[in-house]
Amino acid sequence: MPAERLWGKNVGACAEALKSKGSVACIGRAGEKKVLISSFVIDSVHSGRGGLGAVAGSKMLKAVVVKGEKELLPANPEGFGELNTKILKLFEANPVLSKGLANYGTSALVKLLDYLDLIPCRNFSKRGTAFADLLSGEYIKAGFELEKESCPVCPLGCKKRIKETGQIVPDYDSLWAFGFNLENSDFASISSADRMCRDYGLDPISASSVLGACSELRSRVIESGELESLLTGIGEGEKTGNGTSRYLSAMGKVELSMDVKGLELGGFDPRGIKGQALAYATSCHGGDYLTAFMIGPEVLGKPLILDRLSLKGKAGILQVFENLTAVLDSLVFCPFSIFAFNEELCSALLTTAADMELSPAELLRIGERIANMERTYNLGAGFTRKDDTLPERLFENNGESIRFGFPREEFETAIQEYYHYRGWDADGIPAPEKLKELGLNC
Ligand code: SF4
Repeated sequence: MPAERLWGKNVGACAEALKSKGSVACIGRAGEKKVLISSFVIDSVHSGRGGLGAVAGSKMLKAVVVKGEKELLPANPEGFGELNTKILKLFEANPVLSKGLANYGTSALVKLLDYLDLIPCRNFSKRGTAFADLLSGEYIKAGFELEKESCPVCPLGCKKRIKETGQIVPDYDSLWAFGFNLENSDFASISSADRMCRDYGLDPISASSVLGACSELRSRVIESGELESLLTGIGEGEKTGNGTSRYLSAMGKVELSMDVKGLELGGFDPRGIKGQALAYATSCHGGDYLTAFMIGPEVLGKPLILDRLSLKGKAGILQVFENLTAVLDSLVFCPFSIFAFNEELCSALLTTAADMELSPAELLRIGERIANMERTYNLGAGFTRKDDTLPERLFENNGESIRFGFPREEFETAIQEYYHYRGWDADGIPAPEKLKELGLNC
């Protein structure tokens, strides 16, 4: 439908105008202006990093509204009900989900990450912060009366809203982005920056990264009071909205860009979570911690415990995790379900919900096909083996403030192991036999 009356509006006003018609996915002014770090926002939740908002804007697509009219009935209601009960018990028995995320949201991670020295600050030039307590989930919960703001039908509800003001509480990504990364302890300005990103349809991690890199470039601290005008500039199409890699390349300072394949890293320091570092480097999406959330096993001990400071054996586990994540994504499960779900549960759910018989092994094979298709797409788009790496800064080991910098040789060995497990050659190119085995013709 024509969208002239919506064009030029930010997300809040656009969603308000459409919400009576159904569930709304829309872009803000940033997407309209094809800002490369712009996102879709779906019913107040950011969806997707990597510039989906700009893709929509370039197609002149302002919003999509969906309203279902039929009742959702599982193929086997009894079996589905039993599984549902089992899943709720699994969630309940999992303290990360039932105690941490359900009570505090993702800000539950702040104290643990701080204790383990895993919060990168000042554009990853520093680790450790003096004010983690002030931005922790516990502190926020003690200071405000919160209510849940769940994705539809989620029993956990990790998103929170302040009851008195109706304001959405920033999740860990935004707390890190506008708090720790910029060394800003002012919760009010972080909340305001988070709200602005949601309204413009901007990726908070990428927006903060470009600001953090500019701050380092100019040796100038960004004050909390400056955030509003800086984010307005990004949202309205200033060059900083091209993202850290492109912006800093144009300035001749690409070494300050904390990205992988052009996508900025989130608030988990890979120097202390080595499987996650490998996951960042090999992800087809670049610096996306959700291609394989190795923070689960390496930091939270879910669904199994791994030594976070070792790369040994991680390549094999990582590719299974990536395959499973691709399956969970395709089934449209929340990424946090990986703390409790496995391929057996997914297989049983598919059978009872949709009468689809896919064994756990077949599901993982589908995940493997996805990983190989994405890899082949990336190779066609010009990415090469040299893009499977981390920002140079993370290899440095130059003193007290940056500990655990990666020994490059160890890292390169792990990359080669990963290729080996994937059935790719030494340049990370899927072998023809591997593609044939997966039934791929690409
Ligand atoms: S579906 Fe996931 S992201 Fe959404 S509220 Fe539930 S736990 Fe949070």
